[in-house]
Formats: sequence, C-alpha cells, structure tokens
Amino acid sequence: MDENNKKNQGIVENGYERIDKFDRKQTKELSELYKKILNKIDRDPNRDGLTKTPLRVAKSIQYLTHGYNINPDDIILSSMFEEDYQQMVLVKNIEIYSLCEHHMIPFFGKAHIAYIPDGYITGLSKIARVVDAYARRLQVQERLTVQIRDCIQNTLNPLGVAVVIEAMHLCIAMRGVQKQNSVATTSAFTGCFLKQQRTREEFIHLIGVMLH
Ligand SMILES: [Zn+2]
Repeated sequence: MDENNKKNQGIVENGYERIDKFDRKQTKELSELYKKILNKIDRDPNRDGLTKTPLRVAKSIQYLTHGYNINPDDIILSSMFEEDYQQMVLVKNIEIYSLCEHHMIPFFGKAHIAYIPDGYITGLSKIARVVDAYARRLQVQERLTVQIRDCIQNTLNPLGVAVVIEAMHLCIAMRGVQKQNSVATTSAFTGCFLKQQRTREEFIHLIGVMLH
C-alpha cells in the first residue's frame, strides 16, 4: 500500500489525523513485553478480560507516542502565508494529553499560544497540531513548553512567541503525594513578549492565567 492510500485510510477528526495503522513488528514485540508485565503484576493473568490487553496496550502506547514520527517544523513550513497583520494572534485552550517521562503516566491540560507575525502567518489549526506533535511523546511539561515556543519562533520567525501550559499530572495525583487538584503552570516567551512588559501582560490578561 502506498503512503497516500495509507493516509486516506486514516480517520480525520477535527483536523487531526487519528493514527489507526500500527507497525506490525512493533505491535507484536510490544504485546509480548506487555504480556510479561501483566504476568508479573496480576494474580490471574489468564482471565478472559486480559486476553487481548497486551495487544490493546501495545497499540495504545504507539498512538500515545506517535509524535516521534512527526516533524513539527514541517507542519508550519508547509502552511505559511505572507500577511501584513502585525497584531497578536492568540490560540487559547488547546487541549494537551501527554505522558510524563518519569512514570509514563498521563499529564493533561491546556496550552495557550500567541505570536506577533512579522510578514508570515500560519493556519490556526497548525498551531494545535504542533502542540500535539510534541505532546504525543514521553515528556516533561517544561520541555514541552519550550519546544513549542522554539518551533514557532524558528519556522515563522515572528516578532515574538508566548506559550503557557497548565496541566494536571496524574503521577502526582494518583501516587503517594495525592495532591489531586494541583495544576502546574509553565511559560516560555521570545522577542517582544520577553522585552515588552505590556505585550506580555496583554497576553496574560487575555488568557486569564495567574503566572507566578
Ligand atoms: Zn511523573
């Protein structure tokens, strides 16, 4: 099957392509490993409900980490338009689902992203796709924030980029500490968002997030 056909069979939902095709060898090897893990942690690993679990988990982990197969720069470089607009472009409340690299347990929340164009803009949905391309990897929230900022800065070369992420970490909520409602906020800025306090404050006011 050629690449285009494969692509056409992907399911497109809200502009995102759901990855429903899995590498066969990878899926087989991962299922065997997950079967071993199940045998270690469950007292009755052969019961009906668990028969297909190793295969399901092997597929789901590939989906949850499919960002490794995407080059985020390409998302923007393939969709850049010349435009004179020099006001803030803001995309708020982009949903984020990622896995913390220390525990491989989810963290999830929202990203707010702004940039001030300098000759070029990109499609608003492309910003969300860049977020997803980095989030669908093993991550820490701090690095995720900076990677998104750098990708937009290095491709569009705008006057400034601002990224704020608010996320809840299940590795904190579900494990020992059990601070179930704590949300971590991270931010990263370039250009005029760094140099001009007013621009930064306008962004922070628009997204309505408290930064410490
Ligand atoms: Zn963690």
